[in-house]
Amino acid sequence: MTKSGQLFILSAPSGAGKTTLLKKVMRDVERLAFSVSHTTRSPRPGETDGVDYHFVSVDEFEAMREQNLFLEWAEVHGNFYGTSRPAVAKQLEQGVDVILDIDVQGAAIITGDKSVHAVSVFVAPPSLAELERRLRGRGTDSEETIMVRLGNAAKEMSCADDYEYLVINDNLEVAATTLRAVLIAERSRGHRLPSGEPINLGALTK
Ligand code: 5GP
Repeated sequence: MTKSGQLFILSAPSGAGKTTLLKKVMRDVERLAFSVSHTTRSPRPGETDGVDYHFVSVDEFEAMREQNLFLEWAEVHGNFYGTSRPAVAKQLEQGVDVILDIDVQGAAIITGDKSVHAVSVFVAPPSLAELERRLRGRGTDSEETIMVRLGNAAKEMSCADDYEYLVINDNLEVAATTLRAVLIAERSRGHRLPSGEPINLGALTK
């Protein structure tokens, strides 16, 4: 029987560099899948449906919610976001670790559910001033959106203590090394070793 995968939660205020960090780490950690969320927000330039998000209408989102298809969902910055329960369950059953890029509300729902075991990681920018600089530099959001996101950032930062791990994204290389170390350390916990299966240290990273 395959050992089930481990669930990881990654949260950060917008502009903390979480997406870039995650893409970098996912390139060189095997057996790790990104959970593609459903959202009612419009795609940004460069985003692909089914890869970055499943972009859905409010009606489609509500229908999924009513069918209890979300492991968690939340309204973030005026849009709905949700994690597909069947998609995550399928990957975990196949022994693949799954990483959820979700906000602090979604993280609280999952960590508050004692039937789910998830390892939580908070990615923080070095400062709020740096966060504002990055949000503006991204050039993809309107001034109104930037103001909403900055307003939420301070609130989100105050939740960092609720997470098991904190990764400060000052330098991308250092943050990536830290996040990789967290993933590998959690995978290496004794209680997670499949019974009777030989330990293959080379299987953890490419
Ligand atoms: P963005 O619109 O910038 O891609 O994401 C905005 C926020 O929504 C981020 O904090 C991101 O982590 C969060 N988010 C993305 N997908 C989900 C989800 O499925 N559930 C929850 N609760 N938050 C999500």
